[in-house]
Amino acid sequence: MIQTAQDMKTYRKKIHKALGNQFLRKALDNFASSYKASRVKAFEGIDLEALRCRIADNKDHALPHLESLFQQFKEKAEAAGAVVHLAATAAEANDIIAQIARDNGVRAIVKSKSMTAEEIHLNDHLEAEGFTVTETDLGEWIIQLRHEGPSHMVMPAIHLSRRQVGGLFTDVTGRPVDLEDIDRMVKVARKELRPAFLAADMGVSGANFAIADTGTIGLVTNEGNARLTTTLPRVHVALVGLDKLLPNLEAALDILKILPRNATGQALTSYVTWITGAVECAASSTGKKILHIVFLDNGRLALARDPVFSEALRCIRCGACANVCPVYGKVGGHALGHVYIGAIGLILTYFYHGKNNDRAIVRNCLNCQACKSVCPAHIDLPYLIKQVYGNVLKDDGVKPAKNTILSFAMKNRKLFHGMLRMASVLQKPIVQKDAGVLRHLPFVFGKSQDFRTLPALAETPFREQWPSLRPRISEPVYRVALFGGCLVDFVSPEQAVALMKLLTVHHVQMEYPMGQTCCGLPAVMMAETETAVEVAIQNLQAMSPCQYDYILVLCASCGSHLKEGYRRLLASKPELAETLKTFQSKIMDFSSFMVNVLKVDPQKFVQTHTSVAYHSPCHLCRGLGVTREPRELLRTAGLNYIPCADEDVCCGFGGSYSLDFPEISAAILNQKLDHVESTGAEILVTDCPGCVLQLRGGMNQRGGRVRVRHIAEVVAENLKPR
Ligand code: SF4
Ligand code: SF4
Repeated sequence: MIQTAQDMKTYRKKIHKALGNQFLRKALDNFASSYKASRVKAFEGIDLEALRCRIADNKDHALPHLESLFQQFKEKAEAAGAVVHLAATAAEANDIIAQIARDNGVRAIVKSKSMTAEEIHLNDHLEAEGFTVTETDLGEWIIQLRHEGPSHMVMPAIHLSRRQVGGLFTDVTGRPVDLEDIDRMVKVARKELRPAFLAADMGVSGANFAIADTGTIGLVTNEGNARLTTTLPRVHVALVGLDKLLPNLEAALDILKILPRNATGQALTSYVTWITGAVECAASSTGKKILHIVFLDNGRLALARDPVFSEALRCIRCGACANVCPVYGKVGGHALGHVYIGAIGLILTYFYHGKNNDRAIVRNCLNCQACKSVCPAHIDLPYLIKQVYGNVLKDDGVKPAKNTILSFAMKNRKLFHGMLRMASVLQKPIVQKDAGVLRHLPFVFGKSQDFRTLPALAETPFREQWPSLRPRISEPVYRVALFGGCLVDFVSPEQAVALMKLLTVHHVQMEYPMGQTCCGLPAVMMAETETAVEVAIQNLQAMSPCQYDYILVLCASCGSHLKEGYRRLLASKPELAETLKTFQSKIMDFSSFMVNVLKVDPQKFVQTHTSVAYHSPCHLCRGLGVTREPRELLRTAGLNYIPCADEDVCCGFGGSYSLDFPEISAAILNQKLDHVESTGAEILVTDCPGCVLQLRGGMNQRGGRVRVRHIAEVVAENLKPR
């Protein structure tokens, strides 16, 4: 039975429980590491990017024509002896399938794995109608016996240990099963399931593809149980989401190339079954299989017409968005999904299972972009998640107080900056001056934030230091503007000072446009789109992109939002299109500017060979696609870069995420810091002030000896004296 938290209080309890499940965390960690390595290997020699683009294109071409593709499919499949139905809702699909069973005198049903059947809670309905239903996929059978839902779309029982499964099998069979012997457990399952196959009058399957021009369905499986389900019983019912319709086999074969590789890192799946019409069947009195194909709408046609969310229907259910999600890796699918799991689950739940089931889970996203980077259908999952969150807030008509306060302040730059200045005065009694941190946290943060120290606001923000600091370079090689962002400006101005020092040495004139304000990403995280748009327009105007060769960022999150986020936000403002294009073409991160534009010379740096580990910020490596340059810059600047495990995995900051979900943030952070400490490096370097805040705060709190610095600071410190 699926019990998804409908409010934050209940959800926090659920998260707390999931985080306490040590087996779950270890199992998901182990899977995530092996998955990443196998995936890379599985895609060797394949032009993955071209394949992803073709899949997205094929899906986008099919989605506006689902009704005509359905008609075409129906004609072809019925000509081949199948009966094709269209169910508008989950209830209708359940009724159709139960009626097919009654009409054919069915008593016992076997089922192969189908997320669409999970979506409509088919088993519950059929059992309530008096039929016996046996799941035959091993994972699905296990969770059916435990009366729970899947915790992963491809590996439904990944949350269970072998001992739990062995104990369950002992109870079910009444015979002791060795709790360590997995092979033996598989044999037990086979022995228990074989009679169910032989006794079944009806098999129910899903389908990965429905090919319109031949009326064929395609099933991709690993265990062979779907072959038995679709061939042995005299009646076969395939339940298929309308989104599985494709015009032809070629489009399906592209998906087939990517599906097993992306799902589990396998080059091939064990079984691919294509079924066209009613085939011969000895169990049937007519000698022909009774084949019914039930297509499910359940909101898909409306979704296909939605200009923002239709993208979600490109999903091929590979489950990869969960495999790489750091939040999923800590709490598992029962806490990060309803029926559909992981990033796509946070989106589809709203449309298929209603806002109440999505209200809490949809907030549980760090915006780390890992899901987007592996999605084979190029779905912008983090963006859609924030849009769904916005819809939930709108539907509920109630916003968290922080949304209202921050939105109001952010729209007015002077008020916003005034509030930050006032906070820097008010914090004085709790600042530990020598360390630049707050001695204890203000009560608004509560105990939950104890997993890291928090930095004090700077006494003098960078914008106030700037007039006296501004260098004047005669005949500069470039004129650049710094987009500081709130953290550099008000918390870590020393990072901007380091940049200025480096630029001055390289004869680059830096400017700091004073009209700039927060990049607006926090507003996006809070689903305050209107505020995010207003702030984007203010920055576009303030940064006067035509006046500079480059606009530099020291914050990867700001950079990625200015470059990519603004494109989505300002898409409906054609009057700003030209300025936006110029602005985006000039945004560059610090390391790329140093390496690719200035081509910095190692001769300018003292080769200290200090050992440094590196944390690759999500919005730099995935948002801006920058991976080589920071590492190259560290080496050029005379530092000894030591690779570290999971460098590109999120640090758990996510801006306001770490305030909303401190326990998950802490779990992700601590794993990162364990990896860093195991390298033996003296310094941990990164290129985002938000990551510095999180990593340094965590390192301080655990009493670690690794210093955490922004890359601009360590590079500037290694400059040779002039
Ligand atoms: S953006 Fe990151 S945290 Fe959010 S769903 Fe995707 S992988 Fe998970
Ligand atoms: S959203 Fe993308 S990554 Fe996630 S299951 Fe669907 S296709 Fe796979």
